[in-house]
Amino acid sequence: MEDREIIESVGKISGDALKYAKTVVKEGASLKEIADSIERYIRSKGFDIAFPVNISINEQAAHYTPRYDLDYEIKASDVIKIDLGAAKESYFGDCALTINLDSSNSKLIEATEEALSNAIAIIKDNVAVKDIGKEIERTIKSKGFIPIYNLGGHSVERSALHGDIFIPNYDNGETYKLKEGDVIAIEPFATDHRGAGYVNEDSYTEIYSLYDLKPVRDSYARALLKDIADSYPDHPFAVRWLYDKHNDISRLYLAIRSLVINGNLEPHPGLIERKRGLVAQSEATVIVEKDSCKVITER
Ligand code: MN
Ligand code: MN
Repeated sequence: MEDREIIESVGKISGDALKYAKTVVKEGASLKEIADSIERYIRSKGFDIAFPVNISINEQAAHYTPRYDLDYEIKASDVIKIDLGAAKESYFGDCALTINLDSSNSKLIEATEEALSNAIAIIKDNVAVKDIGKEIERTIKSKGFIPIYNLGGHSVERSALHGDIFIPNYDNGETYKLKEGDVIAIEPFATDHRGAGYVNEDSYTEIYSLYDLKPVRDSYARALLKDIADSYPDHPFAVRWLYDKHNDISRLYLAIRSLVINGNLEPHPGLIERKRGLVAQSEATVIVEKDSCKVITER
């Protein structure tokens, strides 16, 4: 397959996985079962998983994925962000939506959905990234909400889910212009009147990625690092993925901590709204074209 075909296929499966996600998020459903079933869905289509399925609830904005030993049951009022991606040959899809079963926060979700579609409507060759951000901020504020200023979209490159180009959720003055053929993830986040419009890092960290293979003294940690390097050389993983092979959980977490301190692993902590405002997110991956852009993660 041509590179472009692979990119479009990972996008399509990512969008299909979001459609599937909508069918499994139900009141009382287990977070762990939801994450496992979405990841199984992606694998069943013959694709790899670009990063652990993120399920971030209410004031949690991003980077939450279930722990193997700590489950949670979905409540009807929860504002649930599902962020996922399929992968093939180190090409990645990246897309997200927000679900609120009792519709008590549907206006917040409409704000990010509309910000995403308005941003998509102006993306084409030579558009400045600040103008995309400006459109996102304008839309979210027009609905009475606040954009999250320290989160944004990004280019999606081969072997780099987060490429070098940053797409702000406000006018940050960056005049860098997108080019035809760029693959970009657009991801507006919004919070309600309680929120600060910024996220902080939480202590909850269940997602890591391989950073450096420098030598490790402890034999258990060394074996764990080898396993991680073999299985997840170029994309993030969840601690729960390691549990089947490394089922002494306290030892596993100690080894992970030592691999972070030794500089082998990069942690991706949960990102939580600074003032605990509710957070919604919408995300799509697009390919920039001459006069428009093509959404490859339709859902
Ligand atoms: Mn994402
Ligand atoms: Mn993204």
